[in-house]
Order: sequence, then C-alpha cells, then structure tokens
Amino acid sequence: MSSTYKAICLSHNPAIEIHGEDHDDLTWNDRETGLGALARRTGDLAAHKTCDLVLGAYSYPLWEITCPVSSGKRVEGIKDGSICCHNYDKSIQVDWLRLMIAALIEPTTATKRVLERRLIDGCWPPDRVLRLRPLLLPEEDQ
Ligand SMILES: [Zn+2]
Ligand SMILES: [Zn+2]
Repeated sequence: MSSTYKAICLSHNPAIEIHGEDHDDLTWNDRETGLGALARRTGDLAAHKTCDLVLGAYSYPLWEITCPVSSGKRVEGIKDGSICCHNYDKSIQVDWLRLMIAALIEPTTATKRVLERRLIDGCWPPDRVLRLRPLLLPEEDQ
C-alpha cells in the first residue's frame, strides 16, 4: 500500500496533525524519512520539541500509527506523553485504536478485562488513545 506520512502531536488534547507553513512540507513519502524528522524535531517540528509525537500513515484516510523508538522520543524529555518504552518503531493499525476508543467510551466487563491486561498494545493507555478520538472517529464531532 502506498502511503504518505505526517506527524501527529499527542501532547495536545485532542491530538493534532502537524502541518508545515505551506501545508505540504511536513508530509513524507516514506516511513523512515518521517521517523527521522520526528527524531530531529527541527523546522516546523521545533515547536513540538518536547511533545509526544507519533507518525501517521495515510492512504487517505489515516490507516496506521507508528510510535517511534523510545530512545528518540526521550531525548528532550517528553512531557505529558506515553510511558511506553521500546527499542524499535512500533506500528498499530488504526482500527485497533478505534476499537479501544469504543471499548473505553462504552465499557463492558469483557472489554474492560482486555484493556486492563493491555493485550492489544502497551503504547496506548486510555488517556493517550482517547486523544485520537476526533482524528479516528470524526463523525462524532457533529
Ligand atoms: Zn505538540
Ligand atoms: Zn510506544
């Protein structure tokens, strides 16, 4: 699947897609280039120096999110972000996150048990995943 990549800031609540000055200059054509830019945080990303940033893969719409390797994220001391820790870039398909959001909003005994055991992904505690709600379930804005 051919995708383009954009930075998403999770220190903002709700999360925001980060756009460059001329709107297209912060879109990358491959994952490695995007992750490199997230690690450097220069240019338009300098304003998000200590933010909790992830990389979104779009093949319109957004279909996957990559949580960067922890060492890169921790360089400047991330404020208000995830406590996950991993030594590789970890990706999750957004349908899993949509299911998690649905389970958090209307929990059942069964879904609560799964979320407590964090069987899906340690990167996504409730506070972090709920920040993505407007990006992942935009129809709920109305
Ligand atoms: Zn930010
Ligand atoms: Zn993570």
